[in-house]
Amino acid sequence: MKSGMFGDIPVDVGVVYEGERIRKGEMHAELGGPDIKHKFELFRVKSPDKVEDGKIKVVGPEFKDMQEGSKLPFAIIVEASGKDLEEEMEGVFERRLHYFTNWVEGFMHLNQRNTIWCRVSKKSVQRGLTLEHLGKVIARLYHSECPIIEKVQVTFYTDPAEVEKLYSEALKIYDARDARARGLKDEDVDVFYGCTLCQSFAPTHVCVITPQRYANCGAIGWFDGRAAAKVDPKGPIYEVKIGECIDPLKGEWTGANESVKEKSLGEVKKVWLYTAFGYPHTSCGCFEAIAFYIPEVDGLGIVHRDFKGPAINGVPFSTMADSTAGGRQVDGFHGLSFEYMRSPKFLQADGGWYRIVWIPKEAKERVKDFIPPDVVDKIPTEEDVKSVEELKEFLKAHGHPIVEPSEHLKKLGVKGLKGVEAEVAATAEEAAPPTEVVTAPTITMPVSGVPGGMEFEIILKNAKIFAEKLIVRRIEKRKGGKE
Ligand code: SF4
Repeated sequence: MKSGMFGDIPVDVGVVYEGERIRKGEMHAELGGPDIKHKFELFRVKSPDKVEDGKIKVVGPEFKDMQEGSKLPFAIIVEASGKDLEEEMEGVFERRLHYFTNWVEGFMHLNQRNTIWCRVSKKSVQRGLTLEHLGKVIARLYHSECPIIEKVQVTFYTDPAEVEKLYSEALKIYDARDARARGLKDEDVDVFYGCTLCQSFAPTHVCVITPQRYANCGAIGWFDGRAAAKVDPKGPIYEVKIGECIDPLKGEWTGANESVKEKSLGEVKKVWLYTAFGYPHTSCGCFEAIAFYIPEVDGLGIVHRDFKGPAINGVPFSTMADSTAGGRQVDGFHGLSFEYMRSPKFLQADGGWYRIVWIPKEAKERVKDFIPPDVVDKIPTEEDVKSVEELKEFLKAHGHPIVEPSEHLKKLGVKGLKGVEAEVAATAEEAAPPTEVVTAPTITMPVSGVPGGMEFEIILKNAKIFAEKLIVRRIEKRKGGKE
């Protein structure tokens, strides 16, 4: 019989289960995820009289009552109180849900806010795991890991109608949180905040959170970082002294460089906060969207996590996420949050919104008010163009700034669509006549018809053959047995 803090939980609970993936064949049910519109998680700070410590409530079917293989809307609401707990800490404690739920054997939690994607395994449900157990684990971990929390209650919603009812309210709460930091500039502060919470999934990933660069997950802004570092200075969110500014355009500071180097154990040497090229901010795996380079037009596309189908480059979000994630700095592929897209510093070293040439309609709607008015209608969505060829036509027809870059874009090194086309044309002109180059370790050629009736073989070792044309022809056997 198990004992200790989780003695009454029928599965194991521990950090060891972080990063556990539950594949389709192993899952009992999926909660939230890309196929489900309504899903979210919220952490709310309440007055003590509004919180019943340890209370767990499930509104809708329990795991065992869900049909095997089903996909359901899902919401987790944690309400907590504590005399030093402040509303501005909500985002930070909300993010801890990702870790606490992942510590439960057979429960997987990905992403955050209204993009959560959870799965529970068949094995764990067979062993008796319920949402009620999950709630108990969450509440106990908040108590043990965050002493500032004095009372906590957890409510799960799996009833689709109930989740839908609460969904728009959750979006309003996220928006209000995000808006709090707007107006404060990176130049106005002398500390940034760092976060290494995602290192359990991406060991070299270090977030640098500034007033104008929200964390990749979209869950932690500069004020959240400040609150977290104040409550738990030795925790995964900490203060970063910014030091000297090396490059205000790219967003490089000595302090941020030292911090990422130390926290990534030397893997990441420096970071440029406002660009997708060179030394971009590392990408963990829970970014809300990806900026990706489209070489044919010298522009950047954006694709968000919930976008179904391939982006304009023919590649779906999941595939691009695989090549972007893992705590790496991938030139031209950049994980980011929606709130960062609303920032005046958004990819400023690359041209910002003037460099963006494609974005899904849903994502565009969410940030539309922050796209400069002179370019907003020149950025197509999946409804306007379906291929890179159509994209080129659209950009030209609408006079997108990437077609013929302004002096400002040129100074940033942008050659633009016409520049790319000119390069392609020049390369085609200069190109040598088509040549086949074959390198073969050994080629043996029979030689016949030598005077005197002798037959030879010519053997070419490590031959390189240049030919204007390569013709492969079947040789018919001639009558009489000769070829
Ligand atoms: S994405 Fe960054 S800020 Fe968000 S939890 Fe991960 S490391 Fe922390």
